[in-house]
Amino acid sequence: MLTRKQIQDSLRYEGGLTRRWFMAYAGALASIPLLGQSNRVNAAPRFSDNPFRLGVASGDPDANSVVLWTRLAPEPLAPDGGMPNESVAVQWELASDDSFQKIVATGTEIATPPLGHSVHVEAKGLESDRWYWYRFRAGDATSPIGRTRTFPAMDQLPQQVKFAVTSCQNLEQGLFTAYEQMAQDDLDLVFHLGDYIYEYEAGRNGKVRTHVGAEIKSLGDYRVRHSQYRSDPLLHNMHAVCPWLVTWDDHEVDNNYADSVSEEQGIDPVEFLYRRANGYQAYYENMPLRKSSLPSGSEMQLYRGATFGRLAQFLVLDTRQYRSDQPNNDKASPLNEAALDRQQSILGKIQKNWMYRELIQSTSTWNVLAQQVMMGLVNRAKAADKVTYSMDQWPGYAAERMEIVRFLQDRQISNPVVLTGDIHSNWVNEIRVDDRQVEAPIVATEFVATSLSSGGNGLAQPDGLDKLLSNNPCVKFHNTERGYIRCTVTPKQWQADYMSVSDVLQPGGTTSVRSSFVVEAGDPQVKNA
Ligand code: FE
Ligand code: CA
Repeated sequence: MLTRKQIQDSLRYEGGLTRRWFMAYAGALASIPLLGQSNRVNAAPRFSDNPFRLGVASGDPDANSVVLWTRLAPEPLAPDGGMPNESVAVQWELASDDSFQKIVATGTEIATPPLGHSVHVEAKGLESDRWYWYRFRAGDATSPIGRTRTFPAMDQLPQQVKFAVTSCQNLEQGLFTAYEQMAQDDLDLVFHLGDYIYEYEAGRNGKVRTHVGAEIKSLGDYRVRHSQYRSDPLLHNMHAVCPWLVTWDDHEVDNNYADSVSEEQGIDPVEFLYRRANGYQAYYENMPLRKSSLPSGSEMQLYRGATFGRLAQFLVLDTRQYRSDQPNNDKASPLNEAALDRQQSILGKIQKNWMYRELIQSTSTWNVLAQQVMMGLVNRAKAADKVTYSMDQWPGYAAERMEIVRFLQDRQISNPVVLTGDIHSNWVNEIRVDDRQVEAPIVATEFVATSLSSGGNGLAQPDGLDKLLSNNPCVKFHNTERGYIRCTVTPKQWQADYMSVSDVLQPGGTTSVRSSFVVEAGDPQVKNA
């Protein structure tokens, strides 16, 4: 077995593309079929049960188009979804009214076995800034109806956009009760910032429900896990309410992985990339993503932009696929030489340059980085004489993080806001080039959304809260309750409502606003609402 250091060294060789890595890439690539392959298509399929048990979803809207998603799975917990090994025709229709009197677009997509009978329609030529309704038909079966919308045109200044920020929905640790309230929130959009599924074996985190099977590794395993999550009626329903913009974190593949480096010591990166290819493909199959995100072997383009007129530009980042390995063996550490190493990158050069270009060209009032791990440099040490930062989050990539915040400052990027998941707790952070220097100007605001269910019930006043706040003047709010953030954004103001669920361990929990914060356009100082 190679040591972690040897693996890293071998990956650094010639810009990271070693022969071994290339072989893995080529091998994984061969496992993905070509689209449009001329195999027989069954236009009148028969199913053992309702093929739309995973529901419908929409996502990645722009001013003229939106992705409509479904996946045929009459038996969701079977590796093949209970579908025969044949391609099936799926009709779709999009209407401007909920009774489908005015159909504005319609078509047929082919659901193929190699892509898990998933359907990703890009409905195009639509009017900007309006709501639509959609549904699918396969054989005799009709799907539930979904509701979706397009974004305003690039040159419009909309009066408002309202969205939720959610992440971390471990099914074993809690019920998805918060989605009940979210469905009532009259949202334009939902951001899911990762840990949509967890890869662990049945019972590991078991509190309220149990995963099916062992730790997931094969494509069939990942498909079944996604199906199990998507069978939850509250999650399933929330996807039908409005479009989602999704990105993954680590658990969609493996806890705390970094590019081709597995969480566990001594896993061959080639072997890991095969697993990653399985996780990425199942993620694509189950999410309302554009075909530009179709995976190619162990690689998948997930970072992308979305512009809500001149009100907000959203840059959805991928901090997992391209990152260098966590420094200090991924153990909470001071901001030492390894954490501040300029070679450390969490975005990778290509994504970072893309982000810089998008930020420079943006004409939007609010510039939003929707991403996974906490950017605030927060000292989490409990003992008085210790200083420790998470190496899996931006502090492990502190030099790059400071470079990015300095860029936001120097280029005077309009109202930067960072949205974050991963950490199973709520935070409001002031972001400076170096958050330890309280006197330095505030550059951005970070809103970290707690988990929807992961970790079970939490606390409004966690132990050591006072000490945490006094050690970290950049932290303006923190608790460990379950819930999500509801954001209402206008040209003048950003309001973030921290939504809290009373109980995720039994049905009947209620969700309400715990705390609200505002940022005025032109002033990065966050205040209590
Ligand atoms: Fe998580
Ligand atoms: Ca995570």
